[in-house]
Amino acid sequence: MIFYTSVCMGCKQEFKIFEGTQKYKQYKLDHDKKFLCDLCEGNVVDQARKNFYYKNR
Ligand SMILES: [Zn+2]
Repeated sequence: MIFYTSVCMGCKQEFKIFEGTQKYKQYKLDHDKKFLCDLCEGNVVDQARKNFYYKNR
C-alpha cells in the first residue's frame, strides 16, 4: 500500500496518509500541507459536535 508519512499538527505525532484518501490527494498537490491524524480529527469532530449541541440547546 502506498502512503506518505506526515506529522500531525495536533499531537505532533507521525502518521500515515494512505493512497486513495482525501488527505493523500491534497498532500500530493502540496507537500507542505499539514493535517490532523485520524485520532485528532476524531477529537475535533467530537468537539465540534459538542459545541453544536451547546449552542442549540
Ligand atoms: Zn494527532
